[in-house]
Amino acid sequence: CGIVGYVGPRDAVPVLLEGLHRLEYRGYDSAGVAVADGGGLRVVKTAGRVGDLRRAVPDDVEGRTGIAHTRWATHGEPTDRNAHPHVDAAARVAIVHNGVFENSDRLRARLRADGVALASDTDSEVLAHLVARSAAATLEDAVREALAQVEGTYGVIVMDADRPGELVAARRGSPVVLGVGEQEMLVASDVTALVRFTQQVIYLDDDEIATVTADGYRTSTMDARATSTTRSPTAIDV
Ligand code: GLU
Repeated sequence: CGIVGYVGPRDAVPVLLEGLHRLEYRGYDSAGVAVADGGGLRVVKTAGRVGDLRRAVPDDVEGRTGIAHTRWATHGEPTDRNAHPHVDAAARVAIVHNGVFENSDRLRARLRADGVALASDTDSEVLAHLVARSAAATLEDAVREALAQVEGTYGVIVMDADRPGELVAARRGSPVVLGVGEQEMLVASDVTALVRFTQQVIYLDDDEIATVTADGYRTSTMDARATSTTRSPTAIDV
């Protein structure tokens, strides 16, 4: 239902929780956050309110790269383990997903046949495994390859604990906006999650993918040719 990402010099956790809080008006049943800072991923997620998530996050969970989600369940009950972010088996790749992967049953069966243990009942989890299993040299290309296998709608943000300081976002039929700050960048499904931090935004188009770091971003088409579509941010009125 709602996605938020942060990469920059600050601890991502309070920024992400504030972003989720701003998205609460859209409705949701669960919430979660994942951060990394050079070490492994830290993931905290829970059925219930953003306030419940805030209380559930231990003080030592911090990191300068992070993603967060408010979920409105379509596939799988609204439980702690079905809440996003979802991670791959090695807990290196974390994803948040808005929308529906229509062919998730087939993808789940194929992953299971390959010996992957699925940790949730969601359609979304497959993305974390598909990205982690890609041999692509960049996170962006791994996400591009993974999304080429899914059918349906998505606004996604992906992070990899082995590549701290980087987020990849993509959309098809579900909004994604980048927020350009001072040596920091945000990503969200809705500008309301960003406006406290920046008014400079770029709306992704359908079938666009973005690589986002603290000091910049680039966007390109989702197809294998990856034509650059990078453009300057525009100011939003608040
Ligand atoms: N289809 C996904 C799920 O059920 C995402 C739902 C959403 O957009 O919040 O987990």
